[in-house]
Amino acid sequence: MAVLDGFNLARLERRTDWTPNVFSLRLTGAPLTFKAGQFTKLGLLDDEGNMISRAYSLVNAPLNTSDMLEFLIVAHPEGKLTPKLQQLQTGDGVYVGKEAYGDLTFDIIPKQTQNLWLLSTGTGIGPFLSLLDDMNFRPNCDEIVLVHAVRHEKELVYRYLIDQLVQQYEGRLRYLPVVSRDSDTTHLSGRIPQLLQSGALLRSADVSLAPEQSFVMLCGNPEMIKDTQQTLVEMGLNKYRRATGGNIIFERYW
Ligand code: NAP
Repeated sequence: MAVLDGFNLARLERRTDWTPNVFSLRLTGAPLTFKAGQFTKLGLLDDEGNMISRAYSLVNAPLNTSDMLEFLIVAHPEGKLTPKLQQLQTGDGVYVGKEAYGDLTFDIIPKQTQNLWLLSTGTGIGPFLSLLDDMNFRPNCDEIVLVHAVRHEKELVYRYLIDQLVQQYEGRLRYLPVVSRDSDTTHLSGRIPQLLQSGALLRSADVSLAPEQSFVMLCGNPEMIKDTQQTLVEMGLNKYRRATGGNIIFERYW
């Protein structure tokens, strides 16, 4: 595979198929300097030799001991890249951007934050797993709530890692799965904004969500982000800006 400006060439170490359209790629061989919670580009060449690349968040935290990079991806049948990424086999080449970007990072969380709320849909849980798993920069808040909203229970990925994190945080981390399209789920059912409005999410977490003490990070479906932000503003929280501070920061996934 050709050398391309702005990209390193990685090899697929392992593909994990969670559902027929949700999968993870573990890559090695492409060194990347990044902060936990950031994203970079993954790319492949099309049949004409043109690069097709899209942004994906790292699921793992930066590691001192290896150049392993892991990404959580949902395949779009009509997409130009994800169906190809989904067919990669161990040893296949993938281009990885040389830079990482994104604000869902430890250093953006105000130091005085007591309750950190991490609200995600679908593959948007990826950056939060990276953030929580960074041994060097563990959020120091009293309470952390990780919400993962998916259509179906089978899309509640990385349960083994989340269980480990819950143990490591020794009572400070709560994991709240939300399922919207399985009628027989034992988890919270519905969508994040409505569950915030009804109080169900706050009751389940038993953690407060208030402007003076909370910081909220959102990642995933842009409509979820729009609707949730509106709900949070109605609850008195404000969008975060570097100059003025605030309580809400987000990353849209498309
Ligand atoms: P999703 O449609 O994002 O659903 C994930 C969860 O978000 C579901 O529980 C869903 O609830 C909820 N949700 C949807 N709209 C919401 C809103 N306005 N407010 C609050 N919650 C909302 O599904 P996914 O499986 O994670 O992603 C797959 C779809 O996302 C694909 O069809 C694809 O089009 C799109 N996608 C596109 C890109 C891209 O780069 N173009 C990347 C990732 C995903 P409901 O079940 O009630 O809808």
